[in-house]
Amino acid sequence: MKKTNAILGGLETTIFEVMSALAVEHGAVNLGQGFPDTDGPEDIRRTAADAIIEGPNQYPRMLGLPELRSAVAEHDRRFYGLDVDPDREVMVTSGATEALADCLFGLIEPGDEVVLIEPVYDTYLPVVRLAGGVPRIVRLEPPDWALPEASLEAAFSPATKLIVLNSPHNPVGKVFTESELEHIARLVVHFDAFAVCDEVYEHLVFDGARHRPLITMPGMRERCLRVGSAGKTFSLTGWKVGYVIAPPALLAVAGKAHQYLTFTTAPNLQRAVAYGLGKDDAYFASLADDMAKKRDRLIRGLASVGFEMMDSAGTYFVCADFRSLGFNGTDEAFCRHITEHAGVAAVPLSAFYENADVDRFVRFCFCKQDHVLDEAIERLGRHFASA
Ligand code: GLN
Repeated sequence: MKKTNAILGGLETTIFEVMSALAVEHGAVNLGQGFPDTDGPEDIRRTAADAIIEGPNQYPRMLGLPELRSAVAEHDRRFYGLDVDPDREVMVTSGATEALADCLFGLIEPGDEVVLIEPVYDTYLPVVRLAGGVPRIVRLEPPDWALPEASLEAAFSPATKLIVLNSPHNPVGKVFTESELEHIARLVVHFDAFAVCDEVYEHLVFDGARHRPLITMPGMRERCLRVGSAGKTFSLTGWKVGYVIAPPALLAVAGKAHQYLTFTTAPNLQRAVAYGLGKDDAYFASLADDMAKKRDRLIRGLASVGFEMMDSAGTYFVCADFRSLGFNGTDEAFCRHITEHAGVAAVPLSAFYENADVDRFVRFCFCKQDHVLDEAIERLGRHFASA
C-alpha cells in the first residue's frame, strides 16, 4: 500500500484528548483539558434552542450570518475602537481552530518561514507544516515567561511570512506587554510580514487589565488577522463558533480556505452568538472577575499542597513547578501519576514544546466550580501528605 500523509501520520493523539480519557478511566477530577464545567448564559443557549426550532437551519451565507458578522464588527468597535467593515473584514468559522487553519493555509507558501512562540498551542506546528511552512521557534523563559528580544529578532528574516501570536497565552497564562507587542509590530513591519493573532481568551484578562489586540498597534491594521472564539467568551466550548477580523485582501484568501474546509458554521448557533456579543459590559466584566477568583482559589490551594505556583494574568490556566514535591520523573509521568494515584488530571507542559526538554511544569485548568477545585486540592493534599 502507498504511504499516507507523513506529517499527519507521524502525529500523536493530542494531549488534551489523552488526559481527558485517562481522567475518565480513573475517575479523576479533570483539571487537564480546558473547558468549563458549567454551561454559559441561559439566555444565549435559549436563543440557540429557539433558532433550532424556528430556524435558521439550512446553509447560511458562506462567510457567516450577516447579523453575526455585524455583531463581531460592533464588538471590535466597542472593546478595541476598531473600525471594521462587516461585509469585507469579518468571517465566521467553525471554531478558532478552523479560523487559525484558514489564516495559515491562506497565507503560507511552501518554504515560507513562520515565527512561533514556545510553549506553543498544539494546532499551530502541524498546520504550519501541512501548509509547507518552516517553523522558527522562539522560547518564552520561565518563571515570568518573558519574550527574549534577541531571540525574537533572530527568528525574523526576509523569508518570514508571518508570526503567530497567542495572547492571552495558553498554556502559561501570560498577557503580552505593551512593549512586547510594540517590538513584534516593529519586526512585522520591518520584514513585511503578517501576524495571525489567536485571541480566544480576549475576555479572560484579570486584575483590571484589558486585552490589547496586536491589530490596534501602529502599522498592524493591514497586517493582522485577529481570531476570536465564542467558546471561551460564552463558556460554550463545544459550540465551535469562531471568527476572523482581517483587512479585505487577507480575509478573502483565508475565506478560500474556509470555503473548502468547512464552508459554513451552524446557523442557529451563529444567531445565538450574535445575541451574546451584544450583552452588556457587566457580563464581560463578571466573566473575568469570576475566573480570577477561581485562579486565586486554585493557586492558593496548590501552593498549600507544596507546588511552586507561577502567575496567571489571563486564560483558564496556571502552571506549576512540581519538583518541590520531590517527584523526579518527567512532567508526563507526573501527570499520569497524579491522575492514577491522586485522582486529579493535569497537562504536562512539554506537550507544548517541539523538543520536550522542559519537564518540570504542569498546566492546571481553573475554569471549574469551586467545590470541584476544592476537591482536586484536597485529593492532591492527601496524596502528597502520605507520599
Ligand atoms: N484549548 C483547550 C486546552 O488547551 C483544548 C481544546 C482541545 O482539546 N483541542 O485545553
